[in-house]
Amino acid sequence: MGTNINLFKLCSGLRAVGYLMILLFGGMVGLTYYAVVLITWGPLLLGSPLRVPSFLCALLVLLLFHILLILLTWSYIMVVLNDPGSVPNNWRPHHHPPSDLEAPAYCARCQNGKPPRSHHCSICQRCVLKMDHHCIWVVNCVGARNYKFFLLFLLYTFLETTLDCLALVPSFIRFFGGAKTHSLSPGGFAVIFLASILNLAFALSLLCFVVMHVSLLLNNTTSVEVHEKKKGVRWRYDLGWKRNFEQVFGTKKALWLFPLFSKEDLDSIPALRGIEFPTRSDVDV
Ligand SMILES: [Zn+2]
Ligand SMILES: [Zn+2]
Repeated sequence: MGTNINLFKLCSGLRAVGYLMILLFGGMVGLTYYAVVLITWGPLLLGSPLRVPSFLCALLVLLLFHILLILLTWSYIMVVLNDPGSVPNNWRPHHHPPSDLEAPAYCARCQNGKPPRSHHCSICQRCVLKMDHHCIWVVNCVGARNYKFFLLFLLYTFLETTLDCLALVPSFIRFFGGAKTHSLSPGGFAVIFLASILNLAFALSLLCFVVMHVSLLLNNTTSVEVHEKKKGVRWRYDLGWKRNFEQVFGTKKALWLFPLFSKEDLDSIPALRGIEFPTRSDVDV
């Protein structure tokens, strides 16, 4: 009994940490915005005398910065707010008889049936459809219905933090190169220094996640299932990389880069609802 209470406390604690993460995310966006837009590139755009090369460069950096910021914030909000998918009450398998002896089709904690690829999340305290992992940054589980939004958030945040690192390099050169023209105060430079370190740390760790999730996506595997796969046996949900991609991103090319799905895709791709998944044997026949 004692362990149950401790586990519950730990899980509520993790949720509280999650809300702190949202604040941390906001703080980091604010700091980076101040460093990149307000003290580094913004003044070049508005500054006089106007020099064409630096004006065009500033225009390009600021345009890219704001487009990526909008896309990553949009994706972030969509992962935070969208339910990854939960199991309907009294769910029982009907299309696929539970022939797979390894995966029990029943969750004792939810006291409900367990669709294929779903897992019980101890932080959410429920079963989540096609669960990938519980992400403390978004205070939500990542599963069937928000995995695309999570991947876009990952990609855009990686691109934005990389752009920030590159965009802040000229300030370092000017500051340390002893240029007479730099207008940075020591305080301004401290902000740029902190923003650079944070963005570099994020860009490097996000690169690892992007590479890992691209590989998972193209093999139609979740972070949980990596441990279930057997060497030498082809994964039962692997439909080939193109169809694996469409199972998460949908078939509408125009929507691939946005955290949205078309109604037709939601109706025609069962994997996006998270209860049933086509397997290799369905496709090969
Ligand atoms: Zn459960
Ligand atoms: Zn969870």
